[in-house]
Amino acid sequence: MSYSNSIKSLIDIQDLNITFDEDCVKQGTFKGKACKYITGTLTYNPTHCVKCGIENKNFTVFKNGTQLSRITLPLTGVSPTYLLLRKQRFMCTECNTSFTAKTPIVERNCYISKNVKVQVMIKSAEAQSLKSIAKDCSISPTTVQRVINEVAVHLKPHHTKLPKHLSFDEFKYAKGAMAFEYINVLNGDILDILNRRDNFAIKNHFIVNYSLNDRRNVETVTIDMNAGYVSVIKELFPKAKIIIDRFHLVQLINRSMNKCRISVMNQLRTSDNEDMKKYRRLKRYWKLILKRKSALSSVEYKYYSLFGQRLETSIVEEILAYDPVLKANYELYQALLKAMEEKDFKMLESCLINPVHPLISSYMKTSIKTLKEHLPYIHNSFNYPYNNGKIEGINNKIKVLNRVAYGYRNFMNYKKRIILHFKLKTTEQKQPRSQTA
Ligand SMILES: [Zn+2]
Repeated sequence: MSYSNSIKSLIDIQDLNITFDEDCVKQGTFKGKACKYITGTLTYNPTHCVKCGIENKNFTVFKNGTQLSRITLPLTGVSPTYLLLRKQRFMCTECNTSFTAKTPIVERNCYISKNVKVQVMIKSAEAQSLKSIAKDCSISPTTVQRVINEVAVHLKPHHTKLPKHLSFDEFKYAKGAMAFEYINVLNGDILDILNRRDNFAIKNHFIVNYSLNDRRNVETVTIDMNAGYVSVIKELFPKAKIIIDRFHLVQLINRSMNKCRISVMNQLRTSDNEDMKKYRRLKRYWKLILKRKSALSSVEYKYYSLFGQRLETSIVEEILAYDPVLKANYELYQALLKAMEEKDFKMLESCLINPVHPLISSYMKTSIKTLKEHLPYIHNSFNYPYNNGKIEGINNKIKVLNRVAYGYRNFMNYKKRIILHFKLKTTEQKQPRSQTA
């Protein structure tokens, strides 16, 4: 490989019209910082004049001086690297105007190479702050955002047709501000993100962007129980079934069982030694109480501190015997858990409809009330395979992005970054699957 070709391969330049001399790499400074300058020459014989279009025969178009431009390249080694490109100038004898040689490594009037843009896009797909991307690519944060914006234009959400199965959720993006997002529950594609999550904003968004016919085609919308989207979904998607994410149902009763345990436990925090022993056991074995009864081991003897050699089942039994309130709540909790896990709607209904045991804690009573209110949607969650897993996975990644990509005071810029992040990620993930297919 020639010297020139080695340099080209090092900085990923394929343009055959660019050449490098032997001593083309020089150390220098730019804006007070050490950097490398690579000087190259861009020249060729144009076939036509770009202004008037005349064919270049017998020097109709002749070479006439050069123009130097500085183009930011990806880092080589540790220092920012700039290409000082001596671009050929041409003069046309026919129309008497001049023009500059072109190269595909940069766009017109642009001073960062396409490779740097690619690098910015790859880095934006990772959870990196604008500042650190800017530093890695030797460009300003504003330029990073501009590159993201340029790409995001092509990734803009298209409100063409709604998928049959949606999933709604929200996330915090700035001090106290919540954003609303909806995805296709089947493939996890983000369909759009709004900077507000109130019913008015949501209603407006769907009415403006989708026809009633489109909205009528939506079959299910999966939500979590805390969100007040029920009424707006009924209005917007007249035929859709609302599905409450099952994970949230379990979480709800889980939390009330735990609160009940804590209140019983705190009553035992006395000067009495026997009470304190119970207190410590209740404090330590909270997980066993929350665990599904059928998953407790009744065969494996193990050493448990505060107990000694025991079976899991016998530990739970002993703890429950400390307090009738704890026991009553535990029985109800286990029945609800079983119904939810086995998707046994009749069993769930009977747990909720039968009058509750007088010893049931107020926490559990509140949960029962909430479950009762959402009963039809819980029923749907037993009948459909959809859940909010995908949208919550997305939200977790958005939170990471939010933490590192601080400095997003502008919601639109933040949204573009999120969309870029996920579009690039999903194409990355989709590749291996299509290869095996
Ligand atoms: Zn011309």
